[in-house]
Amino acid sequence: MQHFHVSKQQWLIKLFFALCLLAVVLILAIGSGNKHQYKDVIESGVLKIITRNSPTTYFQDRDQISGFEYELAQKFADYLGVELQVQVADSLEDLITEVQSGNVALAAAGLTITDQRQSRVTFADSYMDVTQQLIYRSDRKKPKSLEALLNSTLVVTAHSSHAQSLLHLQKTSMPQLTWIERDDAEVSELVQMVENGEIDFTIVDSNEFNALSGFYPRVKAAFNVSEPEQLAWAFAKFSDNSLLEEAREFFSLMRETGLLAQLQERYYGHLNQFDNVGTLTFLRQADERLSKYQPLFEKSAKEHELDWRLLASIGYQESHWRALARSRTGVRGLMMLTLTTAKEVGIKNRLNAEQSITGGSAYFAKLKKRFKKINEPDRTWLALAAYNVGAGHVRDAQKITESQGGDPDRWMDVKERLPLLTKKKYYKNTQYGYARGYEPVNYVQNIRKFYDLLVWRDQPEPVYTMVGKDTIFTASSDYKMIPPLTVN
Ligand code: GLU
Repeated sequence: MQHFHVSKQQWLIKLFFALCLLAVVLILAIGSGNKHQYKDVIESGVLKIITRNSPTTYFQDRDQISGFEYELAQKFADYLGVELQVQVADSLEDLITEVQSGNVALAAAGLTITDQRQSRVTFADSYMDVTQQLIYRSDRKKPKSLEALLNSTLVVTAHSSHAQSLLHLQKTSMPQLTWIERDDAEVSELVQMVENGEIDFTIVDSNEFNALSGFYPRVKAAFNVSEPEQLAWAFAKFSDNSLLEEAREFFSLMRETGLLAQLQERYYGHLNQFDNVGTLTFLRQADERLSKYQPLFEKSAKEHELDWRLLASIGYQESHWRALARSRTGVRGLMMLTLTTAKEVGIKNRLNAEQSITGGSAYFAKLKKRFKKINEPDRTWLALAAYNVGAGHVRDAQKITESQGGDPDRWMDVKERLPLLTKKKYYKNTQYGYARGYEPVNYVQNIRKFYDLLVWRDQPEPVYTMVGKDTIFTASSDYKMIPPLTVN
């Protein structure tokens, strides 16, 4: 009896200490552990978020930072009246850990709400529904069901909702299912691998595929791998939820005002429409549209000592010579200037063709100055790439070129490295991070082709002479019968 009494007492003491310890841990976690509760954010004037460097979340686009998540987070920071600070995670796992440990206020990273994650973080209201889609290369047999994945290479990002789905499938219905998880690659890289035929399949969210498919013409979505799922921002579990409540109000405001729908439309509403233009279309449009703008291109060219046909080619690549053109990222006008660039070159109305051409030309001339030590024509091609993707990314690609023993001042060498900026292994060590690096390569190639066509179109009329019944074609020595198509 006596013995029992003592041990019960001991047990109660132990329980008491354990409870005290738990209370201390909780107080520490809620109190000082998380420095990102509503009042801390307001007092410090900074909202620190974590995200991923990817085309649907956060990336440097030309001379501005872009990305659906980034813009959404920026709006939340504006709503709170504080400054936004962005931290980029190396992997999805890091992202969750950083939120969990209270080092950041929230994660805005296209995160899917999953049971597994819900045990670690708290999600705000969802802002988008997506499904996971199986991506394959369209010149190969279209997979009809999950059975097709057996005996093939399926690669997904590590710690993703996609990996979680596969694990679930393996446990519940398909024990033979195998796949590879990559920590060092993000979705666009995996889609590119499918496009190149390096792997058979990958899984991406429908919004990601929507944003990417315009750039990877060979890939298609075969079927949905998951039921509809929800994307949301993640917050630390140990917190007073004050910031989470603010986010809830912010999202309902974004919904009511239609701003959320607008942002979705801008990023996911339509695909890049200015790709793959044939020579004939170009020449027809040159006849129909260019004459109106030619004097403006000539004027700007004179001012900056440039070739007007090059400026006109930029204008065609950018907007097909349409003064009112606009892109999903808010770039506008005939020369597609961002707001920042327009300000930089003193342009007020981007939709005015004259102002756009003046501004775009001044900007291009400025970019050329940044590469002034480089010989022509490489200097022009590098400046063009910078017009497309931003000078920072071009510099990054030049650095990679140099580190691989290439010549950073040669376009031929740099254009081989620009696409590496889509690969995490490379972009994670660069100053400006992820870029759709294959785009400037196509961009420069198209402009060179348009330029050659304009030069060809501009040359003196051929001369025909009648010799008997035959028409003999004679021409000045520099006349080219066939429109030259620049490769390289
Ligand atoms: N929504 C996916 C997730 O939360 C994104 C993963 C990815 O793009 O790799 O895991």
